[in-house]
Amino acid sequence: MTGRYPDAVDVVIVGSGPTGAAYARILSEEAPGASIALFEVGPTVSNPPGAHVKNIADPELRAAAQDRSEGPGAGAATVSSPGAVTAGLRRARPGTYLLEEGYQEAGEDGLPVAAFSSNVGGMGAHWTGACPRPGDSERIAFLPELDELLDEADRLLGVTTDAFDGAPFTALVRERLGAVVDGGRPPERRVQRMPLAVHRRDDGRLVWSGSDVVFGDETRANPDFALYDESLVTRVLQEEGRAAGVEVRDRRTGELHTVRAPFVVVAADALRTPQVLFASGIRPPALGRMLNDQTQVVYATRIRDAESVATAEVAAGADDVGADQVIDGAISERSGVSWVPYTDAMPFHGQVMQLDASPIPLADDDPVVPGSIVGLGLFCAKDLQWDDRVEFSDDQRDWYGMPAMRLHYTLTDRDRAVIERAQAEIVELAKAVGDPIGDRPFTMPLGASLHYQGSTRVGETDDGRSVCGPDSEVWGVPGLFVAGNGVIPTATACNPTLTSVALAVKGARRIASELSGTERLLTSNSDVILK
Ligand code: FAD
Repeated sequence: MTGRYPDAVDVVIVGSGPTGAAYARILSEEAPGASIALFEVGPTVSNPPGAHVKNIADPELRAAAQDRSEGPGAGAATVSSPGAVTAGLRRARPGTYLLEEGYQEAGEDGLPVAAFSSNVGGMGAHWTGACPRPGDSERIAFLPELDELLDEADRLLGVTTDAFDGAPFTALVRERLGAVVDGGRPPERRVQRMPLAVHRRDDGRLVWSGSDVVFGDETRANPDFALYDESLVTRVLQEEGRAAGVEVRDRRTGELHTVRAPFVVVAADALRTPQVLFASGIRPPALGRMLNDQTQVVYATRIRDAESVATAEVAAGADDVGADQVIDGAISERSGVSWVPYTDAMPFHGQVMQLDASPIPLADDDPVVPGSIVGLGLFCAKDLQWDDRVEFSDDQRDWYGMPAMRLHYTLTDRDRAVIERAQAEIVELAKAVGDPIGDRPFTMPLGASLHYQGSTRVGETDDGRSVCGPDSEVWGVPGLFVAGNGVIPTATACNPTLTSVALAVKGARRIASELSGTERLLTSNSDVILK
């Protein structure tokens, strides 16, 4: 042991979001006896570690957990302040904090609200949990087993589709959307319930999945797994051309330690995974490049004749959800969440959420029937460009002491045309569901989707355009794996976490199979650092 850390383990994982947790879970299941150390720079803010903060019932404790996840941004005003977003203010979502400098270069669009979470569970302790599957060109063509990996990701994230079946108006919303969207689509790409990482307990309460669900009892009961919070991995060590461990700073004491390991997985989000590689001198040409985010167009509408539809639904046996069951946050008990899947012909991913309140004030004598306000969001896939990138400084440091980052990001003419089309389509969807609220749709500031991708992309071959191979092992550095949305190589419009967890499953299986092979080597080579 050095300080609270072991000297050597079989696998080091950097970052405790859903993808780092997926490696821990699959290795716990498929490589019993392998020692695993997971290092997370942020503090533990929920119990069990990595749990979604929305599961914290006490609003003050929940706010404190969000605050503690916000690293250098703790205490800053968030989007929760009324009107902040539409007024164009740079604000972070609760539980996240903004990149303070380097988010926009002169003459470029930048990602003004690029954000991070630094806590056990990462952004997965704050997310909405939407887990749609990629379709058409969103899919990774060179992974024939993608659907099986996505099934595994569903299992790890605890994805369900029925948690909101009792919410009012959901069937009606889907029927009205389907009437304008479904023509010519195969059944799996028609309007449907949004797959969500959430389940209902026996007592009826909702439990949102965070990394705790991904870790599962299998990881928590694994005596060879340990999670170290407040631990910054400053670089990956290499020896004889392969991964050999990490250097890690204990943020409680400030001390720097070395932990040796033949396998290292960097799952430190799409902006900080390339940062750790850069700091380690691992700088393949594609590192940080092809960065992409999903521009988000939003609008709201109000279901026509909601009173009479609600009365009819309750008469037909639907739940009359009581106000006492409403939980704070983006989705409440009354929210139906519907999905308009991406297709190449209609290149948007639609996330449709019923709200308890109108996003803009309505007249006092105009009470809102719960669930009757419908928020529509269309996410647009980016036109990928080599020059859209996160780059790092050799001299300047960020708040954690890591190489400072600078984002280069521009929308192309094609991007602008797609956004314009999304603005037109969303009005049609809003009219199909009810009476649109407000004059026109709103385009969120770039970076607001929190779905940054492409910066450590997988590729089929090492042609200089990707950072790692199909199982996420970095080209030219055996034993080093990368994880998170950065590995997704396609321009997706759908929420990315399910796909990045699927890719993590593939990488973890590869390590598990190598570990079982190496274990056999132990009999002949006692120097191998393995249990
Ligand atoms: P993260 O969850 O970001 O975790 C990375 C972790 O690495 C962090 O905890 C960080 O502190 C740690 N780390 C970074 N650098 C270091 C270092 N050097 N040393 C040690 N640790 C380090 N996605 C969806 O798919 N669907 C949604 O509905 C959705 N909604 C969202 C809503 C909100 C409000 C937010 C905030 C996010 C949402 N997302 C959604 C995004 C989703 O949360 C992320 O895609 C997901 O968490 C990514 O998982 P990850 O493991 O790659 O990274």
